[in-house]
Amino acid sequence: MRLRGLERWISALRLLAFPFVAWLVAEATYPRGWERWAWLTTAAYALGAVGLYVLARSRLGEARAFAQSLLAQFFDTAIVAGYVLVFSFEAGTPVEQILYIDLAAACVRFEIVGGLLLAAASAPIVGGFERLRVDRLHIPYSWQLVALQTGFETMMALIVGWLVRRMLIESHEAVARAHEAETLRDELAGRVDLADAAYESERQTVEELRRLSTLRADFVSMVSHDVRTPMATVTVAAQALRANWHQLGVEQRDSLLAVIDEEIGRLGGLVGEVVDSSKIDERSFSYSFGELDLAALVAEAVVAAELGHDGVRIVASLSPGLPAVHGDPARLRQVLTNLIDNAIKYSPEGSAIEVRASAHNGDASVEVIDHGPGIDARDQQLVFEKFGRVPGTSAKPGSGLGLYIARAIADAHGGALEVSSTLGEGSTFTLRLPTC
Ligand code: ADP
Repeated sequence: MRLRGLERWISALRLLAFPFVAWLVAEATYPRGWERWAWLTTAAYALGAVGLYVLARSRLGEARAFAQSLLAQFFDTAIVAGYVLVFSFEAGTPVEQILYIDLAAACVRFEIVGGLLLAAASAPIVGGFERLRVDRLHIPYSWQLVALQTGFETMMALIVGWLVRRMLIESHEAVARAHEAETLRDELAGRVDLADAAYESERQTVEELRRLSTLRADFVSMVSHDVRTPMATVTVAAQALRANWHQLGVEQRDSLLAVIDEEIGRLGGLVGEVVDSSKIDERSFSYSFGELDLAALVAEAVVAAELGHDGVRIVASLSPGLPAVHGDPARLRQVLTNLIDNAIKYSPEGSAIEVRASAHNGDASVEVIDHGPGIDARDQQLVFEKFGRVPGTSAKPGSGLGLYIARAIADAHGGALEVSSTLGEGSTFTLRLPTC
């Protein structure tokens, strides 16, 4: 990663420096035969610089970053050596100093080791340079110069290489610290999330417990009211019959027996609802599915509800050609009866109730529409819960189980039971069922 970025940068520098080097080569005055070597080195420089520039930006360069750096280092050293040797004829020009640039590049690439190897490699170059100068300029060979240049290069390799090493260590540490800080931050965020989640779950549990305790209180009040009242009525009526059997006329006996019948019926219904709801909870509520005529089922339920409810008008409107439904007729009748009974129970005397059956997009639906008190939006889910009753409706007899059972039946049919209601205007309960 580091070498890749470095090679991109050096390859651009190499290209940028080329015009300057070419200008120096063009401007120089050469002894016979030397200019050719200068231009040959410059041509190699141009070709290599372009090649390395392309390589530094290629996939191959990415995949083989170390090999690319090694190749670039060899190339740079060869070109620098070429120029040092070619320009050895120029007396007084410190041309061998350009080896320092190559050395700096080796340190940056391969740290101290790279620098030291380059210092070692440049010793024969400087030696060759000295030899050429001796031949050309007729001066004595200077071992000291070779030793001095190599010594300087070694020192530079140690200093620059160490600096590069330190910088790399620091940068690794900084990355590790940043990583640690990130992990810590994530951990803290996780802990805050966990605390939030724990708080939220505690809050929900408390709310659920509060709701259950309200429902349980409702159930106790339902049992005490809805069971005790009919039981008391039945007991009183039975006692009256037993104590006064001979004194009572036939009509009086009949009416007392009718009272007993009605109250026992209501108690039976209540017991049935409690049993049904426990079976639903235990998932043992049984169904017997078959193809059924929804229109006939709705018509039957309406007729049955009309009997004995003179105070309320029930209007059935059935769309023609209703498709058959796959369902349990007894359970679906139970749902319809509950919806219509509720509409009657909670509607004012004399109002009308409409029962509409229709089909759209593969679903059949039955709507039971009343003009009763309506249900506040915040209680519209409560009414489908076990023992859920709208506050203020306890004056009407009821267990709060009917809609809970009805929704479970609708769900078991792959359908749905929903309510839409406006306070003071009335409610519409919609039973949706998939058609055959
Ligand atoms: P029950 O009628 O026996 O109390 P349900 O489960 O059938 O039990 O109904 C739950 C509650 O929903 C009722 O207690 C009542 O508060 C409310 N409710 C149901 N149907 C209607 C309706 N048509 N209009 C107004 N409130 C209704």
